[in-house]
Amino acid sequence: IITPVPVPTVFGGTDKCMLMTFHDQTPLRRVEEMRADFVANASHELRTPLAALSGFIDTLQGPAKDDARARERFLGIMHTQATRMARLIDDLLSLSRVELSAHVRPDTLVDIVPIIRQVADGLEPLARERQVTVDIDLPDTPAPIAGDREELLRLFENLIENALKYGASGGKVIVSLVAAASGEGAPEIRVLVRDFGPGIAPEHLPRLTERFYRVDVGDSRAQGGTGLGLSLVKHILNRHRGRLLIESVPKNGATFTACFPQPKTAVVA
Ligand code: ADP
Repeated sequence: IITPVPVPTVFGGTDKCMLMTFHDQTPLRRVEEMRADFVANASHELRTPLAALSGFIDTLQGPAKDDARARERFLGIMHTQATRMARLIDDLLSLSRVELSAHVRPDTLVDIVPIIRQVADGLEPLARERQVTVDIDLPDTPAPIAGDREELLRLFENLIENALKYGASGGKVIVSLVAAASGEGAPEIRVLVRDFGPGIAPEHLPRLTERFYRVDVGDSRAQGGTGLGLSLVKHILNRHRGRLLIESVPKNGATFTACFPQPKTAVVA
């Protein structure tokens, strides 16, 4: 940007001078590109089940009008597609809510042990369906962190649900809690969710927390996934000053570890 500015001279009065300012537009452009990508992805993901719904409505109004068996089957598929759309919208809203409040750190101490137990209990039907045994290895004493209860429920739900969905059917999932130290030596509380499924190839690991990133889109869709779960997990952990560690040995499962800083005062509200 070139702006003419009056500059005082040593003899008094002013001279006209040109002032050149350089603004690096790259970060701004990158944010705009990411936003455009996000809108395109979200629209595409919503349009897919919507197109299926419209198709089945047409069929039910036309060729399958008087076929009771086809009607029953198509209504079942339409129900699945509608549930999928609702879940996608739910995840998009959660993501934008967490992003909007990213700068506000939760300051209430909450015990995460009962939160993890509540999530595991809620996922029991899925574990039964997948014939997976869930081993819960949690301490009998409270593990308080400065946190948002609802967001923590969402976070553990995503990690344990993924382990059940993508881990080995008929296998095992281990959920445990340990105290450890971060790389800088700060005390942390870590929750580990380990499965023994096919694992994740190393090239996918850095991209797993990107919105809509899926290793296998067909597999994720078949499991009712939206590709937003781990992105939400990452944002929730950021707001809690935490971090996500992902380790995987292909063919021998994956471990997702949510690390939270240990609060200095440990009285649970
Ligand atoms: P989705 O809604 O598809 O489950 P996520 O963001 O939760 O989306 O996960 C992104 C992708 O990471 C999944 O589609 C799946 O390919 C992969 N993934 C997540 N958890 C696991 C796991 N425990 N084992 C293997 N792959 C996983």
